[in-house]
Amino acid sequence: MSGWIAVAGLGPGADSLVTPEVTEALSQATDVVGYIPYVARVAAREGLVLHPSDNRVELDRARLALDLAAAGRRVVIVSSGDPGVFAMASALFEAVEADGAEADIRILPGITAMLAAAARAGAPLGHDFCAINLSDNLKPFALVEHRLRHAARGDFAMAFYNPRSRSRPEGFSRVLQILREECPPDRLLIFARAVTAADESLRIVTLAEAQPDMADMRTVVLVGNSATRRVGRWVYTPRSAGPV
Ligand code: SAH
Repeated sequence: MSGWIAVAGLGPGADSLVTPEVTEALSQATDVVGYIPYVARVAAREGLVLHPSDNRVELDRARLALDLAAAGRRVVIVSSGDPGVFAMASALFEAVEADGAEADIRILPGITAMLAAAARAGAPLGHDFCAINLSDNLKPFALVEHRLRHAARGDFAMAFYNPRSRSRPEGFSRVLQILREECPPDRLLIFARAVTAADESLRIVTLAEAQPDMADMRTVVLVGNSATRRVGRWVYTPRSAGPV
């Protein structure tokens, strides 16, 4: 039997947002590999071996999946949201490139946090937007600042992943400070926490009202562009924009 690897996105949390393609791959799998809380979302069954591992060991995890597939196992690497967004798909290709490994690989998309959050709020990402990972785990924080400033000057709406962790609580204060330097105080921000989970919360504030402790590692932060506005209880960004 020949092995394979599927890198699957489990979506933001709700079972109803796991795609049928991902469910099918999981039903055929012999092994599931991933970060502990994501593997915990996969139902145990006989014949399925779960391999939960801690954060920041993505390359080891990818190598484990490659070894298992080479031994003929059917492996699903699970990510939350989409596996290509700040997640395991790139880590797998880094391992493939570094080791010259060969495997039958499929990437199965999922609903990424910013899209689930945007849908809850209305359509804040309805025009040009960008996603920025605020973690300085794999890049210097100066690069985060550089990209943030340019995105704000380019009038992109933005989505911030990994906004704030216990190990760098000051980083998000700095992000708000840069936004205050680049954008007017009435710019709309959405703090979407644990979207589609039981403890979901959504907070819509202006930049003037935004506080660092409104975000944690289960929050995705959306920032509107200059045209983003409220209509009733919704927040949306119109599809058109004027000249530069
Ligand atoms: N691959 C994932 C992102 C992994 S990075 C995806 O596509 O969604 C982890 C970050 O994603 C978290 O720090 C948070 O910013 C965001 N995130 C993931 N799930 C979320 C959820 N249900 N609600 C809000 N933010 C979430």
